[in-house]
Amino acid sequence: MVIKIHDYEKNGKFSIRKCYQALREPIVQVSWKRLICNNKASPKSLFITWLAVLNRLATKTRLAQWNLVNDTSCVLCNDAEEDTQHLFFSCPYSAAVWVQCLKIIGITRRPVSFLDEISIAASKCRRKSKVSQLYGIMFAEAVYNIWIQRNHQVFQGTHKLPQHTVDLILLNVACRVPDTMKNHLYR
Ligand SMILES: [Zn+2]
Repeated sequence: MVIKIHDYEKNGKFSIRKCYQALREPIVQVSWKRLICNNKASPKSLFITWLAVLNRLATKTRLAQWNLVNDTSCVLCNDAEEDTQHLFFSCPYSAAVWVQCLKIIGITRRPVSFLDEISIAASKCRRKSKVSQLYGIMFAEAVYNIWIQRNHQVFQGTHKLPQHTVDLILLNVACRVPDTMKNHLYR
């Protein structure tokens, strides 16, 4: 994130509060309304996606800010700090899931930063084409199911393999769309 000092001035004075809020909530700038409101994913997936976009999920990094946990390592890879940016989709686990999800809707690419992924998904949700609509649903279902697997690992000490999570996501997506849209799911 690029910080411009003038963005955090109030009546000519630098506002620590404004700057602090911006640093803590870097994801909120994007038009999340488009992503959430024009999306036929399940309500629970949209709710979790909404929290993720607003950087409000109770990730370990956020919990550590409140001294609720000491260990902030990602439980899915044990190789990085667990924050929203890492979980979606920098983590090797979630990257593997998202790459497969994209492939199912005919897109071959590596994940980019969560901020950029949100922008891409939000712009897709503005479009009317079936593939664009599928993209938005797939995005929300992927965020939700990765968060669920993260919670499984935290609370039950186990989580599904990426491939099995992709199967769940695909099932959730297929349940939410008409047959004409299912034809655009490649499996
Ligand atoms: Zn990880």
